[in-house]
Amino acid sequence: MRLLTLLLALAITSSSILAATPAATESVNLYSARKEALLRPLLDAFTEKTGTEVRIVAAFGGQLIQRMIAEGENSPADVLLTVDAGNLWRAADAGVLRPVDSEYLHSVIPSDYRDPDNRWFGLSLRARAVVYATDRVSLDSIAADLGGYIGLAAPVWEGRVAVRSSGNIYNQSLIAAVIANFGPERAEQWARGVVGNFARPPSGGDRDQIRAVAAGEADVAIVNSYYYALMLGSEESASISNTAIYFPTDDQMGTHVNVSGAGVAQHAPHPELALAFIEFLASPESQSLYALINNEYPVHPDVHPGGEVAKWKKFTPDDVPVVEFGKLNADAVRIADRAGWK
Ligand code: FE
Repeated sequence: MRLLTLLLALAITSSSILAATPAATESVNLYSARKEALLRPLLDAFTEKTGTEVRIVAAFGGQLIQRMIAEGENSPADVLLTVDAGNLWRAADAGVLRPVDSEYLHSVIPSDYRDPDNRWFGLSLRARAVVYATDRVSLDSIAADLGGYIGLAAPVWEGRVAVRSSGNIYNQSLIAAVIANFGPERAEQWARGVVGNFARPPSGGDRDQIRAVAAGEADVAIVNSYYYALMLGSEESASISNTAIYFPTDDQMGTHVNVSGAGVAQHAPHPELALAFIEFLASPESQSLYALINNEYPVHPDVHPGGEVAKWKKFTPDDVPVVEFGKLNADAVRIADRAGWK
């Protein structure tokens, strides 16, 4: 009797192991420009829901694209996750992403924030905003003297603008958006004007520009919104208490918004799982957390931002589709070069 019970128990155990095996070995390989620690809660939620594990290779976006090109048909990558539409466009242009047919992604992601050829999809939004010194610039004067991005070239801002190098994709995408709104000639004039207003030669990242404003080296800085939220929530918040965020807008151009996003790899070994993972990240249940991870705005129109970002004023996003940032990237780089934007 005892032996029978034991055998029965063994049989049940082994059959449940067998049943669990396919789920446990199924995994999707994520090439990610975002760090694993940040994504972990979402990856675990996906595994819990679907039984599919997510294995991560984390590196800079450009490195991941190079790696996918080098690996070719043997690439284990299922999904590429990276930031900036300029980078996603490059990945698609390099042929490492495949088009997918997803009614769901079409229904939850506004068309301005995804590839018209369905090779990548925006998952979160960030504004390239202005952080200004509240002790030297009033909100009235920033609205009147600056208004939109074009205002950054006005003589009133001479010696007062801090921004990182134009080698950075964030600035290339901003210049591309100015080209899309105002045409290449006006965009080049503008870039020359902005360079003429530099408080100092470009150096450091976006957070360094905010520090420069707080320290009085510059009065306005062009930065991605999430860096400001990150600093406000950090030990540094006291040292930047003399600053505020402003979202440039004028009659012609709204606030420049970019995306983080993902696409299914051209040679994905598990394309269905890859698509299921991207759909999961775009779903309302994931969107709040995905945006909150990096202090961004959800791309899903029905999901609201959280944390510091929720306290900010609403703004009108520019209406140029983000795919244009990729298409106009080469023109933007040429304009930056000619304008002397180092
Ligand atoms: Fe960044």
